[in-house]
Amino acid sequence: MFYQKGIDDTFKELRTGSSGLSTEEAKRRLEEYGPNVLEKAEGPSPVQVFIHQFADPLIYILIIAAFITIVLQDWVDTGVILTVITLNAIIGFSQEIKAEQAVRALRSLAAPKAVVIRNGRVEEVDGEELVPGDIVLLTSGTRVPADLRLIEIIRLEVDESAMTGESIPARKMTAPLSLESSSVGDMKNMAFMGTLVVSGRGQGIVTATGAKTQLGSISREVARVRSAVTPLQAKLDHMGRRIGIAVIGVSGIAVVLGIFMGEKLVDMVLTGIALAVGAIPEGLPVVVTITLAIGVKRMADKNAILRRLHAVETLGSTTVIASDKTGTMTKNEMTVVRIFAGGRLYSVTGTGFSPDGEIVPGSPGGRNMALEMCLRAGLMANESGLEFDEKKKTYVPRGDPTEVSLIVSAIKGGFREGEERVKYVDVDEIPFESERMYMATLHSDPDGKGHIAFIKGAPDRILGMCDRELGQDGMEAGLDKGRVAAENDSMGSEGLRILAMAYKKFPADVTGIEPSMLESGSVFLGIQGMYDPPREEVHEAIQQAKRSGIRVVMVTGDHKVTALSIARKLDIVDDENAAVLTGQDLEPMTDEELYEQVGRVSVFSRVSPIHKLRIVQQLIKRGEIVAVTGDGVNDTPALKAAHIGVAMGKSGTDAAKETAEMVITDDNFASIFAAVKEGRVVFANIRKVVLFLLSSGLGQVIFILATLVMRLPLPLLPSQIIWMNLVTNGLQDVAMSFEPAEKGIEYQKPRPRNEPIISRLMMERLVVIGIVLAAGSLALFVWELGQGSSIEKARTEALTVMVFYQLFNVFNARSETRSAFRMNPLANPFLFFSIVASIIAQFAVIYWAPLQYIFRTTPLGLKDWLLILPVAFTVIIVVEIDKAVRRIMAKK
Ligand code: ADP
Ligand code: MG
Repeated sequence: MFYQKGIDDTFKELRTGSSGLSTEEAKRRLEEYGPNVLEKAEGPSPVQVFIHQFADPLIYILIIAAFITIVLQDWVDTGVILTVITLNAIIGFSQEIKAEQAVRALRSLAAPKAVVIRNGRVEEVDGEELVPGDIVLLTSGTRVPADLRLIEIIRLEVDESAMTGESIPARKMTAPLSLESSSVGDMKNMAFMGTLVVSGRGQGIVTATGAKTQLGSISREVARVRSAVTPLQAKLDHMGRRIGIAVIGVSGIAVVLGIFMGEKLVDMVLTGIALAVGAIPEGLPVVVTITLAIGVKRMADKNAILRRLHAVETLGSTTVIASDKTGTMTKNEMTVVRIFAGGRLYSVTGTGFSPDGEIVPGSPGGRNMALEMCLRAGLMANESGLEFDEKKKTYVPRGDPTEVSLIVSAIKGGFREGEERVKYVDVDEIPFESERMYMATLHSDPDGKGHIAFIKGAPDRILGMCDRELGQDGMEAGLDKGRVAAENDSMGSEGLRILAMAYKKFPADVTGIEPSMLESGSVFLGIQGMYDPPREEVHEAIQQAKRSGIRVVMVTGDHKVTALSIARKLDIVDDENAAVLTGQDLEPMTDEELYEQVGRVSVFSRVSPIHKLRIVQQLIKRGEIVAVTGDGVNDTPALKAAHIGVAMGKSGTDAAKETAEMVITDDNFASIFAAVKEGRVVFANIRKVVLFLLSSGLGQVIFILATLVMRLPLPLLPSQIIWMNLVTNGLQDVAMSFEPAEKGIEYQKPRPRNEPIISRLMMERLVVIGIVLAAGSLALFVWELGQGSSIEKARTEALTVMVFYQLFNVFNARSETRSAFRMNPLANPFLFFSIVASIIAQFAVIYWAPLQYIFRTTPLGLKDWLLILPVAFTVIIVVEIDKAVRRIMAKK
């Protein structure tokens, strides 16, 4: 077993080495061992999805209707109804399968990557491509991508609770173990697939992948794909069911009433069916699924990947976006531009990660030992890298841009990393963690026989550890904290991010460092200030967010002055005296005090992930719908607590991505806001479809009931109603889900999350439209019968006017407030073509003999059309008046 073997034996057995596999060898092994995936959890099978299509009240009614027509030996209608049932099942089936596929595809986009050493270089590969023998690098927040034999660790702690149930993270080691029995928890020199690195870092050789891993052998651990019903869908299902029950009730009463009034039973049953079919919003479930899927797709196009479907609806209601600064609002292209060391100030020329540039002293003076050591400390206490890409002739940064910028400034100062690493041999390390705000490395010290620790981190932290500083002449002297603080503030007010460097010497027998060993007695070296340009599009996004009633809050680990400077540049606050709350201010506050503060403060600086969690909790308590960004493993509590956790796709750890509702692939604040906007569009479009469907349903019900009361013959046959609801107007339902964002949707206030789907305005408009539809159709029907026309002719006319009513009504439904004439009819090409298709279909029903026979229609003449079209158009006129009145009322 690998845990019993030494590192060299493990290398030998897996035919690999410290520089990893070659690309060719990795490819060959991938073919031999297969991809590194567990058995995928099965979603519902196609058969299940198909059967599911019939579990719908509408279908029950249709099946009953079909049965009745069979009893009546009305074979044509039986055929129509059965065709509709089949078509409905096929369409619903294909939509659901498609939506499922889309969700899967999105998941794979967010699939974890692994950092490996191959060809002697650090590379990022898909987790699925790992093979035995690969060398994997682990950092805090990484989900261990395969089973590993650890070969190098620095304070590596792994949360193995998923496998062992042990909630305390396991400390790891590299030495071989001679255990008799081996449980996961005992194999301390192994890291297992699916466990989570919570702190420290390490390297391991892949010993097993995919199903061969420990995780693969415990199949019950495999996460099941949860069914993708969102609260919105549930709400709509609920609404649909209530409407269904109401409709069946009304139909039943109508039937009884009719029989009472002496109508024939057969006629009344048919009327009842017609009523039910007409009123039930059959298109709704399919349309909602499509709308959600389109929304998710549109968000993905804007670099926002939703990991949970229900986030779509919550997103639209977001009232606060609490965002990181570094990398999210700024570009994270750090360049050191100022250095203060040995009492002297320097400017650094050059931009970006290219090390072309030099360090220019602000005042004359000779060699500065403090500057040299400051640059060296930045270079050595560093886990990132800068490589030159021969092909592209550019420098490629690896790791944390903050650190890369320190490599760049050191090179500009004449250092070569290779040479330094030979002189100062690595001995130990305290890795960077957000809470700690600094990192340190221990090296052999060429100036003497001992060891030297290089420390770099937040200036306030570092100053607290130092009592002396290195002078220009290389001599240690008393530390002038006031001077450093002044330089720090002046760099900070330029918006620079500042790191401080220090060292501490130890005797040779000290071979490991602990944070407590650095807390005092360190020697201050200097500070480096780096410029990180704000992202251009963020300023605009923040403006828009504000106009949308969304508050933007900056939560950063950076210094107060720096945070405020960037916040002002981005107009998060507009006042140079705007309140900034620091982690230190926040620490002693009670939740009640913080509750007050989060209501007015928009910039939080020097906060640790715990503070972030508290801020989110208090915002939520204030009734806000909170989206919060995060990247580290320590951010997961805040991500979990927020309504919408947003993980960074590039800089985020696996832990953050797994917890988040949404992953932003470009780490850009603007993408978060774009997703919020899309979330609003989704909800708005669903409402539009609901209004459209329910108003025409209501119109049909009133129409049919009115004819019943007036003792007129049935005005629409069940087959005709089915035709109009599922074919001609069915096309519009689907097309509506493709509606683009309505102009100004970003300027509306966020929708309260618990707001019902049908608002007051919708309810009122629904009734207005229903009455218009019913009145016009009834008038035409009565008039036609009064002319002595055949009942077929009168029904054809009633059907046609209904179809056109709804074609016009689509334009009404496109906006709740804006005039239909002010919207581009071609903005949604699907809608345009669906209308053309519906008109052609309706012509076919009226003029094509086979369809005439099936739907019992007769051809209409020009005179009839001149009657039908103006009557149908009234629905636009009436709703336009309604909208205009409301606009005027709103202005008052
Ligand atoms: P942010 O990146 O938003 O500033 P972090 O929590 O990542 O927040 O970092 C907190 C602080 O720790 C930073 O403001 C900086 O002063 C310091 N810091 C950040 N990265 C490093 C690093 N790699 N090494 C040392 N110190 C760092
Ligand atoms: Mg950071």
